[in-house]
Amino acid sequence: MKILHVCSEVFPFLKTGGLADVTGALPEALTKLNTENKILVPGFPAFMNGLANKKLVANLGSKFTAENIEIYSGKLGNVDAYVINAPELYDRVGNPYSDSSGAAYVDNYRRFALLSWTAAKMVNGADDTWHPDVVHGHDWHAGLMPAYIKAHAIHYGGKQPKTVLTVHNLAYQGVFPAEIYHELELPQHFFGVDGMEFYGQVSFLKAGLFFADEITTVSPTYALEIQTEEQGCGLSGLLRARHSQLSGVLNGVDPQVWSPEQDNTIATKYSKNKLDGKKACRVALQKYTGLKLQDTSPIFVVVSRLTEQKGLHLVVEGIKTILERGGQIAILGSGEEPIESAFTHLAKQYPEHVAVQLGYDESHAHRLIAGGDVILVPSRFEPCGLTQLYGLAYGTLPLVHRVGGLRDTVTDTSLENLVDNIATGFVFNEFNVNDYNQAVKRAFALYSYSDGWSKVRSKGMSQSFSWDVAAEKYLEIYQR
Ligand code: ADP
Repeated sequence: MKILHVCSEVFPFLKTGGLADVTGALPEALTKLNTENKILVPGFPAFMNGLANKKLVANLGSKFTAENIEIYSGKLGNVDAYVINAPELYDRVGNPYSDSSGAAYVDNYRRFALLSWTAAKMVNGADDTWHPDVVHGHDWHAGLMPAYIKAHAIHYGGKQPKTVLTVHNLAYQGVFPAEIYHELELPQHFFGVDGMEFYGQVSFLKAGLFFADEITTVSPTYALEIQTEEQGCGLSGLLRARHSQLSGVLNGVDPQVWSPEQDNTIATKYSKNKLDGKKACRVALQKYTGLKLQDTSPIFVVVSRLTEQKGLHLVVEGIKTILERGGQIAILGSGEEPIESAFTHLAKQYPEHVAVQLGYDESHAHRLIAGGDVILVPSRFEPCGLTQLYGLAYGTLPLVHRVGGLRDTVTDTSLENLVDNIATGFVFNEFNVNDYNQAVKRAFALYSYSDGWSKVRSKGMSQSFSWDVAAEKYLEIYQR
């Protein structure tokens, strides 16, 4: 089977969130299952510069205000790739979606329409040497891909590949004014309630959810949650109607990047059975961040986009619960200004107990996850969540809200779970500061009982979230 993956981020070339970790790992895991995989990405500088063995395979002319669109093939890491060279649309510095002030590019609809339009071209002869059976798009950036493939079938006939769309976060939908619809050059009847219209506007994500043969999302619980009014972001009706084509497949962890045994970026490597290195990482973290050296209270860590979704206002509001007990907290993230400044303010007030680094920093993320005792992921909603999985692998117990993928991957340290030896972290049920604080208190209680802590940590470290398992599930979906 041949699969073309269509996406806008791929780790380690370009990453703004968990999407890149998935597209950076899934094609390789699928290749191990005897499938052929290629990825198609926009020609952002990171991809144009990262492409090895670059070869021109097609010239697609002009489209969406870009002149002379060229398709290069080559390798991104170990994976075969096509990159769309359209400098007018893609050769911009910084974030793939927004300018340096954080404002979304006004021509994003053209930039990502080109990605999906190109996918339809590639599977219809632009590269006559390779014909995929399945095209797998990720998030709204590739939402139009199933629509362009359907449109191609209507215009020209011929056998088209099957399409899959994965939702990594339903809250990001790529919605644009109706006036842009004619520029997309899709059939007029696609722009309706039964199609890609969303309350009078054009929704790229809805196009994918409506036209794809199969829909997936990144955890079984999130697959159910997005069918409810509360978490469906206006699309729950469509998702309920398509529930028999909707699956939830948990993300995996790439052990080449995230395992304490192999991690070259941390102070000392360690494993479940040899935890001395974890102590060294803890001290290294305290020294690096300027936190006071102490080993009597836990260090809490946060590695996150600082957005409302991530529930970090609970951490700000509940900070006293940590500080009054002598705990420490180290935060890495960037995002919304009020959250950034609340954390910065706390770090100024309590420099020996609160450390903040704003921005994106891959090696600091590893330092925090290896050196911390508890990783906080109190998200309001969470499609899968990856940092709690990294926390489990590194013996840094996750403290999470019982929602989405967090619910599917962390088991609370209730007394009965402790007795059954299935506890792996701390889970709070209601999204409020009181419930969050209770979980923080449970973390302190367990920390003071070192046998119990070691048992839960060891259980967490033996959890396996393998891409091999996820890849098998995707393969079943492709075969369907
Ligand atoms: P989301 O995709 O919603 O941001 P996930 O938990 O699925 O959340 O994935 C986040 C990914 O981004 C993880 O790999 C995490 O380590 C990484 N990450 C988040 N913020 C930062 C940061 N400031 N610096 C480095 N890595 C970060």
